[in-house]
Amino acid sequence: MTLRNLVILGSTGSIGRQTLEVVERFPDRYRVLGLAAYRQADVLLDQIRRFHPQAVALADSQSAARLRQQLQGAGGPVPRILGGEEALTELAAWPGADMVLVAVVGAAGVRPTLAAIEAGRTVALANKETLVTAGHLVTAAAARRGVAVLPVDSEHSAVFQCLQGSSRASLRRIVLTASGGPFLRTPAGQLERVTAEAALRHPNWKMGSKITVDSATLMNKGLEVIEAHWLFGAAFEQVDVVVHPESIVHSLVEFQDGAVLAQLGWPDMHLPIQYALSYPERWPGGVRPLDLAAVGSLHFEAPDTARFPCLPLAIQAGKIGGTMPAVMNAANEIAVQAFLAGRIRFPHIARIVAQIMEKHVVTASPSLDEVVDADAWARREAQRMATECSQP
Ligand code: MG
Repeated sequence: MTLRNLVILGSTGSIGRQTLEVVERFPDRYRVLGLAAYRQADVLLDQIRRFHPQAVALADSQSAARLRQQLQGAGGPVPRILGGEEALTELAAWPGADMVLVAVVGAAGVRPTLAAIEAGRTVALANKETLVTAGHLVTAAAARRGVAVLPVDSEHSAVFQCLQGSSRASLRRIVLTASGGPFLRTPAGQLERVTAEAALRHPNWKMGSKITVDSATLMNKGLEVIEAHWLFGAAFEQVDVVVHPESIVHSLVEFQDGAVLAQLGWPDMHLPIQYALSYPERWPGGVRPLDLAAVGSLHFEAPDTARFPCLPLAIQAGKIGGTMPAVMNAANEIAVQAFLAGRIRFPHIARIVAQIMEKHVVTASPSLDEVVDADAWARREAQRMATECSQP
């Protein structure tokens, strides 16, 4: 049994913490080599004491300085501590790592993911924004370096599991399931008045705040369509979305012969995380066995794109390609922040995304710098629009 060295970027977030729970169950399979977070020094300190990584990184320099003081004061072995914007990218290419799990939030995942690929590491990708904004660069780099990019997103893990043993040519269609979020039955007129608190009450999944709001707008599913396009080399016409409120069927694959395979289970991220770590093997335990009699019935319906325009907007951005998906994603990130801060109303999120997409002049096949510039432009425009929306 080989012991593999793991680096986790975003270790203090929801996926990062659940990844450490999986690793804890398989101490003879994985050793934690590096941990990185944005600024949660206290959570990271606790993780350092439990997992003894060689190196840690905090993107926020002040938090890194505080962590350094705390560790030196406490005595015992002190890991290398990296701080600042480039720290995550440096840790992503840390010598001796076998796998890098990327679970940071938003487009901040792009540079560290590319660095991990260039260093030849297997990448377990929980951050969908990386493929949304720079899918063409990530897939090209992975192909050039012969590196596997394994999905951690539950839907894509489901698709990946269903595809095992079949050639890509046999794939006809991917069907991503969506829970529909907390506002699945909320009438259009009432969406003007829903609060951030209500948006954060997801019926099935416990996740970070950004992705939970994205689930409420269905933007999350739009981002996932683009993610599926890049991960599985599927045309946008080959990726469908169906609303499935129980979140038991995690996604489906239809083959050329008409056969449809699905992966089922209780909604629990521990399984997709564990599968990325164990691939191509399957390791025992970790999730509660599925009891279909207890579930009773499963429901499916078409998504309501009139009430949830973020879904078609994201798919449109994916089809246009170039810098458009990065612009769409950046506008959404800013709009979601403004909504969480109570500055704009729920329907403003889609309006901001739509208007910024309309204003954007697309660059085809952009370089990383061009993606970064388009992202920055969209953030400035979205901030300006959010401020306008918040005026009475
Ligand atoms: Mg998902």
